[in-house]
Amino acid sequence: MIAERCDVLIVGGGPAGSSCAWKLVQAGLDVLVLDKQVFPRDKVCAGWVTPPVMEMLHLDLEDYRRGRVLQPISGFRTGLIDGPVVMTGYGRTVSYGIRRCEFDHYLLQHSQARVAQGEALESIERVDSRWRVNRRIETPLLVGAGGHFCPVARHLGADLGSTERVVAAKEIEFEMTVQQRRACRAEAQRPELYFCRDLLGYGWVFRKGDYLNIGLGREDNHKLAERVEDFLLFLKREQRIPDVVPGRFKGHAYLLQGHGERKRIDDGVVLVGDAAGLASPQSGEGIRPAVESGLLAAAVIIAAGGDYRAATLAGYDRRLAARFGASRVPTPGVPGASLRTFLGGRLLGNAWFTRHVVLDRWFLHRRQPPLSV
Ligand SMILES: Cc1cc2nc3c(=O)[nH]c(=O)nc-3n(C[C@H](O)[C@H](O)[C@H](O)COP(=O)(O)OP(=O)(O)OC[C@H]3O[C@@H](n4cnc5c(N)ncnc54)[C@H](O)[C@@H]3O)c2cc1C
Repeated sequence: MIAERCDVLIVGGGPAGSSCAWKLVQAGLDVLVLDKQVFPRDKVCAGWVTPPVMEMLHLDLEDYRRGRVLQPISGFRTGLIDGPVVMTGYGRTVSYGIRRCEFDHYLLQHSQARVAQGEALESIERVDSRWRVNRRIETPLLVGAGGHFCPVARHLGADLGSTERVVAAKEIEFEMTVQQRRACRAEAQRPELYFCRDLLGYGWVFRKGDYLNIGLGREDNHKLAERVEDFLLFLKREQRIPDVVPGRFKGHAYLLQGHGERKRIDDGVVLVGDAAGLASPQSGEGIRPAVESGLLAAAVIIAAGGDYRAATLAGYDRRLAARFGASRVPTPGVPGASLRTFLGGRLLGNAWFTRHVVLDRWFLHRRQPPLSV
């Protein structure tokens, strides 16, 4: 029996889903967001966000920081693991640190969409050009925003990791005790990024208010747990973090833009965020592409005016390509592991290269114009 109808059903209430919902609700559409978890929920993530995210969503930062962590970032400490270190300062806020349990909940509320939480997507049927989901919700348009393992992406044929070259990452986030805060040399306004020698990934130490987030992500999950252990030993040797790190690391996977080939639209369907595989190939930043793709999808949906055939939605694919590049690009960087290692070793110890290429271009996208939707 159909218990609920909506103009657009968004599966997943993370940054991609809630950004898309926000824009659609503003345009007067009746939007329902379905999420298998109950918010506030956690998401494995370091919680580094670039300012355009706040601007695009018109977030009121004064309101946000009331009772939530909003850590301004004005510099970085970077280098190779076990290599020389470069300090880069900007003298102003160039990024923020947030906690995903707080941030995602806030964005979902900010969207003003109707929310069905604690309900996983279990079935999708096509009935007379409409979707019937979980045998109880009917909609002409489905937005897949369920993250890397999104069931809507699976429905469109994504192989969800079996042949995709994904980033595998592990992190831990905990509230530090007074003693831990004293023992932690990592500074809050200056996150630390340490690249692996083969340049296939990097580890981070990210202090956000009283919280510490430590993690490592690589586009090669071979012996990831051992690499995380080695990274922790390195950080302790360098006295960057407290001696005792409580709890276990949690892992997750995601796809970088151009490193996979997911179909992103079909009749009555659009994928956004990690479901579409859009994280930045150089930095692994996924929140901004999630928000931008959510907004781009919403613009195309609004312009479609109820005609949701794949041909009408194709503008979304074109706008993604214009913003993020082709969906399948050759492996970036330099060929050959030894050459990569050689160049990485040289360049990541260089202050000019670190500031202008690694940070300004790869991590902060300072040359990229704001998204226009
Ligand atoms: C260890 C790690 C660190 C990272 N650090 C950063 C960082 O510092 N900065 C950054 O920008 N990016 C970071 N990323 C990437 C970033 O977390 C993702 O790119 C981002 O969360 C994508 O947002 P999304 O909305 O597409 O998906 P998600 O945030 O994954 O949200 C998907 C939502 O869909 C719901 N869902 C899933 N399956 C179903 C289902 N079957 N039915 C209903 N609902 C479902 C989930 O409950 C979830 O709420 C990191 C990733 C990892 C793994």
